[in-house]
Amino acid sequence: MILALESSCDETAVALFDPACGLVGEWVNSQIQLHETYGGVVPDLASREHLQHFGPLLQRAFVVVPAARITKIAVTHGPGLAACLAMGLSAAKSLALSWGVPVVGVNHLRAHAFSPFIPLHESNPVHFDAALAKLLPHLGLLVSGGNTALFSIDENRRIRMLSSTLDDAAGEALDKGAKLMGLGYPGGPHVEKLARTGSPTAYDFPKAMAQRSSLDFSFSGLKTSLRYQLEKMQPEEIERKKPDLCASYQAAVIHALTRKTQLALERGGYRSVGLSGGVANNQVLQSELEKIARRASQPFLRAQAKHTGDNAGMIAFAAWAEREAGGVSETGYALLIEPSLPLALR
Ligand code: AMP
Ligand code: MG
Repeated sequence: MILALESSCDETAVALFDPACGLVGEWVNSQIQLHETYGGVVPDLASREHLQHFGPLLQRAFVVVPAARITKIAVTHGPGLAACLAMGLSAAKSLALSWGVPVVGVNHLRAHAFSPFIPLHESNPVHFDAALAKLLPHLGLLVSGGNTALFSIDENRRIRMLSSTLDDAAGEALDKGAKLMGLGYPGGPHVEKLARTGSPTAYDFPKAMAQRSSLDFSFSGLKTSLRYQLEKMQPEEIERKKPDLCASYQAAVIHALTRKTQLALERGGYRSVGLSGGVANNQVLQSELEKIARRASQPFLRAQAKHTGDNAGMIAFAAWAEREAGGVSETGYALLIEPSLPLALR
């Protein structure tokens, strides 16, 4: 039984994972409302919240599974906000030391990368290894507030970076665009909601590096172009046109994501396509990527909604699924925080 702790940013989360049956329980305290007032995450406030919430969340977990059954502790050691990561590591190490069980550090991004496989394990825990083997090599798209990357997972479950963003992440582009339009934080869900009643072709925003053969992403030009467009408009016109603005802006972001994924797929050799990270919640993105995967006759796997944002379920799962693939840090009780840990090397 693995106990996982996650506190890389603004979610305090705890999960219990039993390799024989899957996730036994997941508990999370989100700080979105607290940070909404500031339009972004305030690290000092975030770490205080983690300090406050780990205890009660763990108490709830131990009602479901007695502490004595836990044989390993997994904790996010990076990337993330240093003060926030430190809270999770302190809690994890204290528990591990007092129970005499090992503690392992999990790379938050790699946990996102493996999150689309959680349902595969849940549906048939005993045959998971064989089922996963049929889906590798895998092409993954990770889209979150801080990262946008295409990566592959090979037959040995090793992750290799194919591309990343040269400037803003996709979620960041949506959040900054939303801010320019006076929408709430985080912006992605607000943009998606308004976009439902707007036209994706009303405004011709640049399709971020869509013409080039590189797999890398770039969203800063798109954001600037939105700013110029808004500067040309009167406040009441912006208000009236918000659904069109959102739909067109979102379409440009999604076009870049799907176009690069398709390019990567065309290079060949993959047996499945995956989608993970906070932006994976976007239903337009989901259906566009699913279409691309279907056209290439590839199974499409996406992280479940509860595993798209920050959560401990994916941390526990990655600690187990990555066992020998080199993605888990086993430095023991001297484990350190790694605020800038990359997903993988190119
Ligand atoms: P993460 O960084 O993985 O915690 O995810 C947060 C990011 O996901 C933020 O940039 C959000 O705006 C974005 N996001 C969340 N839900 C959606 C959605 N439905 N559509 C687009 N972006 C979203
Ligand atoms: Mg995350």
